[in-house]
Amino acid sequence: MIELNKEQLQTILTHAESTYPEECCGVIFGHMYRDRKTVIEIIPTENAWNGDANNFSDDDVNHGKKRRYTISPQEMFQLQKSARERNLNIIGIFHSHPDNPAIPSEFDRNYAWQEYSYIIVSVQKGQAGDVNSWVLDDDSQFQQEEIREL
Ligand SMILES: [Zn+2]
Repeated sequence: MIELNKEQLQTILTHAESTYPEECCGVIFGHMYRDRKTVIEIIPTENAWNGDANNFSDDDVNHGKKRRYTISPQEMFQLQKSARERNLNIIGIFHSHPDNPAIPSEFDRNYAWQEYSYIIVSVQKGQAGDVNSWVLDDDSQFQQEEIREL
């Protein structure tokens, strides 16, 4: 289960709508106690997706930021540092699916880390809609996680 308040949820929705029709992304700072995560802060980041900087297939490159997202390693490093300084952890990543359902893609699964929550927001025609959270199970398959709005 992941707990977040209205304001934090709104931060995700606003970021998702502002980057439409491209995917947005960001990290989630918080605390983790067993299977229960509590969000402390939502940090929107730049979608640093740049297919040709990496060894991805043409298909990946062609989809561009409308279908892919990435957080640059430098930014991730800085965020990990600032989380630590505040005695927080990065407990997950959020991103949007423009004109697609809030369900992880195969690409999302391949690049997902264990223990992180993956919050996905569907944005239909510029309007944020469904929000789901996903975590990998022991077989590296995504399972939906309950979102509790505080
Ligand atoms: Zn995705």
